[in-house]
Amino acid sequence: MRYSKAFPKTQKQAPSQAESVNHKLLVRAGFIDQLMAGSWTLLPLGFRVVQKINDIIREELNKTGAQELLMPLLHPKEIWNETDRWESAKEIMYQLKKDNKDFGLSFTHEEIVVDLIRKHQIAPKDFPIKVYHFSTKFRHELRAKSGILRGREFLMKDLYSAHLTEEDMHKYYEEIKKTYLRIFKKIGFDVKVAEASGGVFTDKHSHEFQVLTPVGEDTIYYCDTCDFAQNEEIFKGNKGDKCPNCSKGIIRMSKGIEVGNIFPLGTMYAEKMGAFYTDAKGVQKPLWLASYGIGPTRILGALVEMYHDDKGIVWPEEVSPYNAHLLAISNNQSAISKKADEIYQKLEKEKIEVLYDDRDVSAGEKFNDADLIGIPYRLVVSEKTGDKIEWKKRGEAKSELLSLEEVTKRFKKRQTL
Ligand code: ATP
Ligand code: MG
Repeated sequence: MRYSKAFPKTQKQAPSQAESVNHKLLVRAGFIDQLMAGSWTLLPLGFRVVQKINDIIREELNKTGAQELLMPLLHPKEIWNETDRWESAKEIMYQLKKDNKDFGLSFTHEEIVVDLIRKHQIAPKDFPIKVYHFSTKFRHELRAKSGILRGREFLMKDLYSAHLTEEDMHKYYEEIKKTYLRIFKKIGFDVKVAEASGGVFTDKHSHEFQVLTPVGEDTIYYCDTCDFAQNEEIFKGNKGDKCPNCSKGIIRMSKGIEVGNIFPLGTMYAEKMGAFYTDAKGVQKPLWLASYGIGPTRILGALVEMYHDDKGIVWPEEVSPYNAHLLAISNNQSAISKKADEIYQKLEKEKIEVLYDDRDVSAGEKFNDADLIGIPYRLVVSEKTGDKIEWKKRGEAKSELLSLEEVTKRFKKRQTL
């Protein structure tokens, strides 16, 4: 992408009302734009990061046999009445009336999935069913101040699984727990799996995937020795206590950003909505349901909270909008511009994703923008670099002079890792 043609460019100032780092940096660097509290446009750069996050999630979920689909966001009141959630979730659900009919905007999709399954009369041998989508969720969030971490309209990947037995549900639930750990590791997070309440979804405990950081809104108690971790909603004890699980470690406390949450829902939804199957003895039994959420737009914000310095964002390689940021420091010299153009075309041909700053602006402005945008590798072509290219990793001081072949080779090696 030629930056001269990119929309929009960086901004000098963060919005005055911005409080969080992700809000300030993502807006300044041109990744997101705020329409109103809790409502964001993913601009082309932000959209690319979210697509990379989604690709990682999709690849891992498909490996578990889950299938991608897309469900509607405008729901009739009747379906929510079947589980009584029109009433019990009315604080969070946007509810509206049109032509005397009531509609809800989707804040989750359990009811829609159970409806799909009961309509399709699936034979017992065809279970489990595992379906997911990436789509918008609407939630009437009271606080929407943490930048893109908390939207009133945001992107969620939600997966639903339906099983004949409790054992089968737990088996897949554990598989997804491991899959989520792989997904978050690939994205660049070290997460804690914390036990928590089931919220408006279930009376059973759920598991949250928490990125521990002082800027998080949740409070997590965890053991410094074993895997034990619980959200403060359910933890009974204090920091400094001996761990109730391994009785060796000490309980620590940290704030956390919840990036994923999985729920073993049980049979409540199937019972209320009449999603039954007939077992070998001819007995009608309800299906076992579980649901699994990840918030790609919250992850976009959490990445910036975790990976930035005083100059801007420092993207982990797997989710960076581009592999390389190529700067032509030409001072109006057409020979340098021509050389940079050729390098850009050759790298693109090799399927290396390049943001190419070909603008007619000062070197200082290009360097500052490159630091702000945060692409992991900066390539500079200038009078000083001769027939080589200056290679520098974002966040590191040292640079190297490399040939185009060496540069290409390094990116190719990274692509096959
Ligand atoms: P929170 O406790 O932070 O309000 P939640 O527990 O209500 O979140 P879930 O219903 O578990 O959220 O949603 C699954 C995932 O969707 C969360 O783990 C998070 O990554 C994302 N998510 C939830 N609410 C929001 C929001 N308001 N804005 C952006 N992402 C969200
Ligand atoms: Mg949650």
